[in-house]
Amino acid sequence: MNSETTTSDGGCTCGFVRYRMTTKPLFVHCCHCRWCQRETGSSFALNALIEADRMQLLAGEVEIIDMPSHTGKGQKVSRCPRCHIAVWSNYGETGDAVRFVRVGTLDEPDRLPPDVHVFTASKQPWFVLPPGTPAFADLYKPNEVWPKESLERRAAMLARSQQQ
Ligand SMILES: [Zn+2]
Ligand SMILES: [Zn+2]
Repeated sequence: MNSETTTSDGGCTCGFVRYRMTTKPLFVHCCHCRWCQRETGSSFALNALIEADRMQLLAGEVEIIDMPSHTGKGQKVSRCPRCHIAVWSNYGETGDAVRFVRVGTLDEPDRLPPDVHVFTASKQPWFVLPPGTPAFADLYKPNEVWPKESLERRAAMLARSQQQ
């Protein structure tokens, strides 16, 4: 099976919001910044980055909450209006074209382990970084880390958003 055409469905806890990623994501971030720790109430956030036009809302609707972010450029968090679970967000620096889907809201979250660990400078000390997965003290340049196919998708996405 071509992984490019693999779909992944997910949703919130109460079941009102259901969504589909129509292809595999561009890349999966495990973020250890303090903001993600606070927002998840946990030790890191696991986000699958995917073009907004590769997602479908299957049921329900999302409520978009503007929040401050680590970089100061803001974050729009899409939440279920009933149970308030965050299903994805858009960051100010990457805009509306790319969604950061909360991997834990997928029906099969095991399918998307992290491709990179970021902001490891603030990772909780008990968490041992796995050997073989790139890790960065803060952010990184996609050109140096992403596979060619994802870079091509990113370039196409940027070209589309500049046309608008
Ligand atoms: Zn819900
Ligand atoms: Zn973070």
